[in-house]
Amino acid sequence: MKNFSNRLLQWFEENGRKDLPWQKEKSPYRIWVSEIMLQQTQVKTVIPFFNRFFKRFKSVHDLADAPLDEVLHYWSGLGYYARARNLHRTAKIISDELEGEFPTSQEELAALPGIGRSTAGAILAISSGKKATILDGNVKRVLSRIIGFTEWPGITVNEKKLWDYAEQLTPDQRVADYTQAIMDLGATLCTRSKPKCNECPFLQNCKAYELGIVEKCPGRKPKKTIPTKEVTMILAISSGRFLLEKRDKKGLWGGLWTLPQCDADDLKIKLEDLLLTGQEFETLPVHRHSFSHYHLDITPVRIKTKKTPALRGEKEDYLWIKPNGQKKVGIPKPTEKLMEKYLC
Ligand code: SF4
Repeated sequence: MKNFSNRLLQWFEENGRKDLPWQKEKSPYRIWVSEIMLQQTQVKTVIPFFNRFFKRFKSVHDLADAPLDEVLHYWSGLGYYARARNLHRTAKIISDELEGEFPTSQEELAALPGIGRSTAGAILAISSGKKATILDGNVKRVLSRIIGFTEWPGITVNEKKLWDYAEQLTPDQRVADYTQAIMDLGATLCTRSKPKCNECPFLQNCKAYELGIVEKCPGRKPKKTIPTKEVTMILAISSGRFLLEKRDKKGLWGGLWTLPQCDADDLKIKLEDLLLTGQEFETLPVHRHSFSHYHLDITPVRIKTKKTPALRGEKEDYLWIKPNGQKKVGIPKPTEKLMEKYLC
């Protein structure tokens, strides 16, 4: 489309977001952290997390030197914890191996843990103004609608088509503003549901609008029924404190602290491991936590114990904690919710 970038930039002048916390000082470090936080998460949710994070981790070296537990603590509540683990790994690479300097090419950036091609483009374009293209979820939606593309972009051939188009549209000048502008258009105007087409600078050129297929662009992932998994979690409570165990580094909630958990059939063995046998316990109503790819039905089992039992095994893998966030460790939402709900 002719003049796409000029029209978008014109729209951005009047309507774009220019006061977001990460726009104040556009260093690669700040843009990188903001981009990772913004994956799957809305701006208004990210802002308080971003501010808190930057109070503590002012530089990539601060982040690299911090224990993973503390990084996960500052991430607690944002979800998708692999993002935080990768953030920490990448900070270590940049701090220890690259003398604190971020790579200056999209390919090198995209080779770092947790940074994909689009995020690499955004870091480069916004922090340095260097020409680089992005194609995040918002941009995929905008471009798909403009060309009336009803296929699902999750398939390589479809994604390539959108990348090619995104590259054609990226201008040589004002790349930082352009990148912010196309993200803003997707986030504020060409939204997933109820887009404000009447305010859109591309209304006259939008194929999806012309054909009345806006809601169908881009195509959705073919639906699968989401499976349900079940787990038992032990709420061992002693003087207002809960027993937590540290998860393995890999897998769900890797490196985070959760209520001790097991399959329902293994409850007896688990209680023996925790030296909690012989105590009365109460089975509480099932608590469902839904991920994008499955539901997790948690059966909480509450045990009130007067003494905090001496634990077997690696002591550093267990701790007794009050649910007030004073101890700086990463705790996933379901554990936090269950602790709050059953504190009394
Ligand atoms: S006209 Fe509507 S659907 Fe098309 S790009 Fe603009 S906001 Fe999106």
